[in-house]
Amino acid sequence: MRTACIVLAAGEGRRIGFRKQFMEVCGKPLYMYSLEKAVKLFEDVILVVPEDVMDRVPVPEGVRKVAGGKERQDSVLNALLETEADVVVIHDSVRPLATEEMFREVSVLDDLDGKVVAVPSRDTVKEVSGDTVLRTVDRTHIWLSQTPQGFRRKVLLECHFRARNEGFLGTDDASLLERYGYRVGVVLGSYWNVKVTYREDIQFLERILCKEV
Ligand code: C5P
Repeated sequence: MRTACIVLAAGEGRRIGFRKQFMEVCGKPLYMYSLEKAVKLFEDVILVVPEDVMDRVPVPEGVRKVAGGKERQDSVLNALLETEADVVVIHDSVRPLATEEMFREVSVLDDLDGKVVAVPSRDTVKEVSGDTVLRTVDRTHIWLSQTPQGFRRKVLLECHFRARNEGFLGTDDASLLERYGYRVGVVLGSYWNVKVTYREDIQFLERILCKEV
């Protein structure tokens, strides 16, 4: 069983205003934290980067680079077309605290088509419109999905083609499998596995990552 890992680093960082995946955090660019774990665990590792910096992004030996697309989903598809592995693990490079154990767990699919790491919602979940609360959502079954996420490559590729033909954009890859009726499993992630979206997330990360090096 061949397994590949696709690390996504082709975002523009529209909400934060810069490409945060390349920002130095404690002496290393943010994307490198995920990449270094991936090279230890997977035989085929692909880093997806913006086309205009393809030649300037340093990677560990053996890592291949692929140009990203306009949306996250386009970036995943570009990389999926470059590997022939049986199982593909997709990871957002802006989650540098994902653990090796998480990568390992999502790559074991057994009878599933996909598997995600996620955490149960600890907060009370409200549905809101503008500045008004409409209702409280029963959180018993609400989990917050993270990456890494593992998939059978052929299934994921089929779902990506179908979604592209329908003009459907999902915020993660598992949502495409769910849409087309495939089985996605879940494994407990960690509340520490934060996604860098805003500036305050960076301060939080610095406190943790700088202690480790
Ligand atoms: O935009 P979002 O926060 O969902 O991005 C999640 C991950 O997907 C980031 O690691 C980002 O670099 C990556 N991405 C990408 N190509 C895009 C958009 C986002 O590789 N076009």
